Amino acid sequence: RAKENGRNSIQVFDPAMAENARQKLGRSEELRRAIERDEFVLHFQPQKDMTSGEIIGVEALVRWNHPTEGLVFPGEFIPLAEESGLIVPIGEAVLRKACGQAKKWQELGLPPVKIGVNMSARQFQEPGMIRHVAAALAESGLEPRWLEIEVTESLLMRDVQGAIMKMHELNALGVSLAIDDFGTGYSSLSTLKRFPLSRLKIDRSFIADIPDDADDMAITSAIVSLARILALDVIAEGVETEAQAHFLSEAGCHAIQGYLFSRPIPAEEMTRVMREGT
Ligand code: C2E
Ligand code: MG
Ligand code: MG
Ligand code: MG
Repeated sequence: RAKENGRNSIQVFDPAMAENARQKLGRSEELRRAIERDEFVLHFQPQKDMTSGEIIGVEALVRWNHPTEGLVFPGEFIPLAEESGLIVPIGEAVLRKACGQAKKWQELGLPPVKIGVNMSARQFQEPGMIRHVAAALAESGLEPRWLEIEVTESLLMRDVQGAIMKMHELNALGVSLAIDDFGTGYSSLSTLKRFPLSRLKIDRSFIADIPDDADDMAITSAIVSLARILALDVIAEGVETEAQAHFLSEAGCHAIQGYLFSRPIPAEEMTRVMREGT
């Protein structure tokens, strides 16, 4: 019996698994150093109102400026940052940088726009989250109404009551809230109604196959109607073609974000885009 267990436990030290664990440990060690060395930079993607042609907002998207690998995209380090808890200090840095940049644009005399900041589950649930948001606003001097926090449906559904409380606290600060990647989670209408939100961001998976996929068009229209019923703003993500923009416009969704208008770009480039207006 004991021998059998012994043999079984040896299987735990599968070399591939051990290698994987070592890599993760190495990568989180690197992430830790990256925080100390301030290697995270923000790129910004504009959001446009098709009716006025104006830029109405800017989403901040983090990149890791890795010393040897160059720019590393969030898909490659956010999951590990979440797992290791390092997302909390990274998220704090992102909040500070985003609020600071938004304030800087206002000081340059550019028309004020909302700055969208993504927040992952671990960060949203963290007890110090509200304090971090308040500190980023206070340090930068940015008025809270220019900050929009983006959270996902699945995050909110994990603990509805807790999420509603946090959202009310953010609202009390004067910060607005958007649901990111909307349509991919499982929020019921009755739950959605209870969230103190200001905006739905339609997930880009629904936009990608417009105008070829009739189901996606129907879903997109339904989300736009839902937003109207709940008195929420709505924006489509991942808009890449004129045909998609046209469909959205017809469907009553006038706010778009996507490569059609601009990819996420560094702050200086964004400043230029904002100066030129549309
Ligand atoms: P997201 O918040 O849904 O951001 C939109 C993603 O779609 C961005 O990818 C953006 O570059 C990309 N995108 C925008 N327009 C288009 C388009 O027209 N076509 C296509 N194919 N893609 C488009 P990115 O920057 O790689 O970020 C990926 C995800 O990483 C974000 O998805 C967000 O969930 C997460 N993320 C980014 N920055 C942060 C951050 O500061 N904190 C946290 N917690 N998560 C972040
Ligand atoms: Mg987002
Ligand atoms: Mg999204
Ligand atoms: Mg499809």
